[in-house]
Amino acid sequence: MQHITKVYSKAESLSSLKEMITKELKDNNLNPADCIWGTSICSDEINNSFLKVGEDFKGPGPFFFGGISGLPFTGKTGFGAFSSHIPDEGAAVILYGPHVGVTKDGTFGKVLREGQEEPSSSCGSLIAGLNNVKAGNVLNISHNDYQQGQVHKVLIENYDDIKKADNEIIATTETGFNQIKRELTDIIGAGLENLGTKPLLLVGGIIINTDWDQDDYFEIRDISWFNK
Ligand SMILES: [Zn+2]
Repeated sequence: MQHITKVYSKAESLSSLKEMITKELKDNNLNPADCIWGTSICSDEINNSFLKVGEDFKGPGPFFFGGISGLPFTGKTGFGAFSSHIPDEGAAVILYGPHVGVTKDGTFGKVLREGQEEPSSSCGSLIAGLNNVKAGNVLNISHNDYQQGQVHKVLIENYDDIKKADNEIIATTETGFNQIKRELTDIIGAGLENLGTKPLLLVGGIIINTDWDQDDYFEIRDISWFNK
């Protein structure tokens, strides 16, 4: 935990995150049972530890906005669909953010997965994108690797800042956060009429994955309401 709080000083357990979201809803006269939820987090199955954050919400959520890296690849069409699923008297919650692994010895960008002896990359998409930029590989957004092409593009655009940082993995994760937030806010803003008068709570932050036999953490960076 010390390795984590040195970088992410506000990292909290997933049960604290769940309590915070419940409190935020109750302070606004809503209950989790009135809400559907969505996520814009990376497809990596390691992030399924977050499913328990939404276990009190209505319906078989979450709606998955995120592809690899957590960018909201479902776009405006996905947001329109999600909005049309909100209960009549209810609201919606979207949890978003990039993820970064940290091993027991404090190595960022790696995590030990169940059944493996050696740690592997987390987030594999962001780190592969970073390695592509560093290798000077040409951007190639192809139909059979479309999402990773977009991740590569974002990292090319931000590499001048990333390379100045003390830790490129942590800086790449920050780039991921900023890009997910920007794209999600743009998608919601462009499709606000889909919500009608129903409120939407957006909760963003950094997902910190630990080795498989330890609990994951979340550092909250953004709590914002639409239609409130
Ligand atoms: Zn990932």
